[in-house]
Amino acid sequence: TLAPDWDRIRADFPLLAREVHGKPLVYFDSANTGQKPAVVIEAVDAFYRRHNANVSRAVHALGAEATEAYEGTRARLAQHLNVAREDLVLTSGTTFALNLVAYSWALPRLQPGDVVLLTRMEHHANIVPWQLICERTGATIRVADLAPDGSLDLDALYALMAPDVKLLGIAHVSNVLGTVNPVAEICREARKRGIVTVVDGSQALPHMAVDIASIGCDFYAFTGHKMCGPTGTGALWARREHLLAMPPFLGGGEMIKEVRYEGTVFAEPPHRFEAGTPNIAGHVGLGTAVGYLDGIGMDAIAAREGDLLAHLTEEMDRVEGLRILGRAPRKAAVVSFLVEGAHAHDLATLLDLEGVAVRSGHHCAHPLMAFLGVPATCRASLAFYNTHAEIEAFIAALRKVRRLLG
Ligand code: PMP
Repeated sequence: TLAPDWDRIRADFPLLAREVHGKPLVYFDSANTGQKPAVVIEAVDAFYRRHNANVSRAVHALGAEATEAYEGTRARLAQHLNVAREDLVLTSGTTFALNLVAYSWALPRLQPGDVVLLTRMEHHANIVPWQLICERTGATIRVADLAPDGSLDLDALYALMAPDVKLLGIAHVSNVLGTVNPVAEICREARKRGIVTVVDGSQALPHMAVDIASIGCDFYAFTGHKMCGPTGTGALWARREHLLAMPPFLGGGEMIKEVRYEGTVFAEPPHRFEAGTPNIAGHVGLGTAVGYLDGIGMDAIAAREGDLLAHLTEEMDRVEGLRILGRAPRKAAVVSFLVEGAHAHDLATLLDLEGVAVRSGHHCAHPLMAFLGVPATCRASLAFYNTHAEIEAFIAALRKVRRLLG
């Protein structure tokens, strides 16, 4: 097979051609949200221009087209992730998906004395819902620590998997350190001990082929906007036995079979968990995004990003006074860094004036910042549409900013 033409692929993203502060844009903030190829923008546009109707309600032609397009995304995602489409609940993103597990699965089950095990590298979206549930049930949170390179200390993690642990919440890929966690191995160890596993796949799906069936988790949550899809899209995959046992999270239209004031019969999963009119156009766009990614190939994307990450890391290591936080052996193209004597926000502000978009702050991971002993970091996060030339431009901008600050 021919290697993908990365210059042509980059040209699929209209926004990447623009300038910022009179400089060509270098967009290194894809872990925050990804840019969209024209086919995705056009799919959303075409939906509203030609097919717009509500889903699962009207018998007319447009209603059928809208339902087919919306359900088509579920089928496409299922194929992409190697799961059954009936086990995928479409949501507004990871945050909703994790709250759905927390309120629908965990709240009725956790009791005083139970433990929710999390890791030090979780995003607030995989911390706060569990805290809210623990407050209401009397369960507590236990935290697995990291090795100095920012990978999970697996022996320490397994040692924490005591009989009181009912649930493990774990990021597949860290949004701050880029660490790729060996989730299949971890979920196998958890399962042996009867611990239910919830994997936050937000930062994994943009970067690599993910086969949820082979991970062997109980729940897998992700968001569409980091994988070329529109904002307000995503899904929760769950084992069928859990979905069947879970009460609805929100009540309303779309999620019922029959409503009487004496009582309501709920629809089967996944529709039981999709109350109200969903983000139809967004999910149509997400289906197109998945088709676009599959057209390039997730393995080709992973290889491309591996090359970019190696180049970026090598160049950053040559910048004096620059410190990279997170050097796990398996990393996605996400690099947190600090420059001696400079505040992360000042760095990001000055880089912006050079046309470079990086994120600065706590990255919704306060406990991880505490572990790293810093209030904030700068983070350069790449996607397959970035280029080696952009890395050179970023490094030149970094050197200039360092001189200005120093
Ligand atoms: N988990 C991780 C690891 C993330 O990076 C993010 C997005 N920054 C989320 C959860 C939350 O995703 P969303 O805001 O799309 O719900």
